[in-house]
Amino acid sequence: MPAQPRRRTAQRPKTTESPRAVAQETRAWIGLGANLGAREAALRGALAGMAALPGTRVLRVSSLYRSAPLDAGGPDYLNAVAEIATTLPPLALLHALQALEQAAGRERPYRNAPRTLDLDILLYGELQLATDTLTLPHPRLHERAFVLLPLAELAPERVAPEWLAGVAGQVIERWGAVGWGKDAS
Ligand code: AMP
Repeated sequence: MPAQPRRRTAQRPKTTESPRAVAQETRAWIGLGANLGAREAALRGALAGMAALPGTRVLRVSSLYRSAPLDAGGPDYLNAVAEIATTLPPLALLHALQALEQAAGRERPYRNAPRTLDLDILLYGELQLATDTLTLPHPRLHERAFVLLPLAELAPERVAPEWLAGVAGQVIERWGAVGWGKDAS
């Protein structure tokens, strides 16, 4: 019997299209501070501004703290930490936060000058980075009670007990519960 030509099995058309890339969310912790003007309003505005950033959700916010400025003069600070989930890469996130600072009227006349709004990336996932514009974890994270106390509320596993012991002498007061609402200015 003559050999039959081999039947071609139907093949799925090959596609050159790769599956759509889904941007990964990273958990990050942002330090918020203000010591000029309507401080609590500035922090609330920053939370709303972060929630409106592309690919970004504000997951949780710490209590509000009041602290005396470190290495600087001026009125007391109000501080808090926000936990966010974002698809923005670290540098894009930094630039977006700096735009929020600018929109809040932030000026930088000199180092540690009083400020209407200060936003720092404390932690971006587990990322460690040291560039001219961005250092992660934030380089002064371990030195500041106004960062460590609110951060410890949200991510205690990221705050070493010896860091907390190291800032025990710093003057700081829990000023508003989660949800806030005590400060009039
Ligand atoms: P500040 O005056 O405290 O707002 O400091 C802002 C400067 O710190 C900017 O020039 C940033 O490029 C730099 N910087 C380095 N690492 C960080 C970080 N993790 N979060 C925010 N700013 C950072």
